[in-house]
Amino acid sequence: MMNTPRTLPALTDLDPAALSARIASLGLPAFRAAQALDAAWRSPAKNWSEVTTLSQEVQQQLAAEFEFDSATETVRQEAEDGATTKLLLTLRDGQKIEAVLMRYPADRRKGTGPRATICVSSQAGCAVGCPFCATGELGFGRNLTSGEIQDQVRAARRILRAEDRELTNVVFMGMGEPLQNIDAVLDAVTGLTDPKRGAIGQRRIVISTSGVVPGIARLAKERPQVTLAVSLHAARNPLRDLLVPLNRKWPVEQVIAAAAAHARSTGRRTTFEVTMIDGINDRPEDAQALVSVLRGSSAHVNLIPMNAVAHTPWHESTPVRIEQIAAELRASGLSVTVRRNRGREAGAACGQLAAERAGTPPPAAVARRREQLVQASAAALQGRRTTTPIAASGPLLPESAT
Ligand code: SAH
Ligand code: SF4
Repeated sequence: MMNTPRTLPALTDLDPAALSARIASLGLPAFRAAQALDAAWRSPAKNWSEVTTLSQEVQQQLAAEFEFDSATETVRQEAEDGATTKLLLTLRDGQKIEAVLMRYPADRRKGTGPRATICVSSQAGCAVGCPFCATGELGFGRNLTSGEIQDQVRAARRILRAEDRELTNVVFMGMGEPLQNIDAVLDAVTGLTDPKRGAIGQRRIVISTSGVVPGIARLAKERPQVTLAVSLHAARNPLRDLLVPLNRKWPVEQVIAAAAAHARSTGRRTTFEVTMIDGINDRPEDAQALVSVLRGSSAHVNLIPMNAVAHTPWHESTPVRIEQIAAELRASGLSVTVRRNRGREAGAACGQLAAERAGTPPPAAVARRREQLVQASAAALQGRRTTTPIAASGPLLPESAT
């Protein structure tokens, strides 16, 4: 599946030991590796020629070996009066990904200072194909490398540095399924949490998954302090099969059991995300099903109104309905938040900027998909499981084709 770009490695693709070895093999002293990493993480430099701690000769030597930045900013959109910045980034092989930066004011009640969160992508596109998700609609491009993930965080830090703000949190909620690219994601977490590199606390990182059961188990073992978010969306298999096609492989019971094992072994509270879709997963029986699988756990439930996406017949639940479901979950002892979607003005959920740029799929394909979704959701609501996943109508197109 991996289709690594045939280009220079990113500086951040190498761990410090490999970087030092590579730099030594160029005949350069070992401290050049530390200087290069320091410039990458702590200076405003955007390319090698702006790294003022290195002579021009060394800059050129390193530029011939490593890409200073593997995710370059192509489009920037501000929204919500500057609280949200949406970035479209271009990778070395021309693939486009998105990252969204969200700024939050200090909260005096909670005693917290100002925060800033970057939502990063782990893949270009996504193979899971959830039908309410703009990224799923794009289809799968390729896995990102560890450096391409870390460079999204560096892009956010450069923006914040100019505002005299600090990046405090990283969430893997952009394009892609992080646990289907788990090696690169775990490497990226190592870089992001290394005091000499990203210096971000593990507890300030959230990995969101659509339910890759073996990946959840590995996360518990290897990165116990990272927060796990599980995109549940429905607690009944027929409906979840439709909303999250991976459910055919790892059904609700297995996902809940893996998350519970993760919570037990790490002591970290799991977040369950439910994207609220009008008339689809917001009925009283949906709330009851959620209660029956989550009751008694320490889990936190996050209800997220669905952002509009172009090629589905669905839309967000009404605020009244969402509040009713939240009240039912709370009444059974669960902790619940209702999230207002950040970045709505800027093109809404992650994947949408890239989806727009990938072009419109043929109208007949869109119409066929909408019809299939209408039929499959009607069947799912009656408790019948659909066997065939509904294909995306807009496969990820290479830049040259757009
Ligand atoms: N693939 C991972 C992480 C990326 S998606 C996952 O699915 O968890 C991050 C979150 O955004 C998921 O909870 C996903 O269900 C949600 N999401 C996707 N499309 C959405 C939409 N149109 N409206 C609201 N939330 C959406
Ligand atoms: Fe992939 Fe997550 Fe979108 Fe599903 S919701 S298609 S898993 S990015």
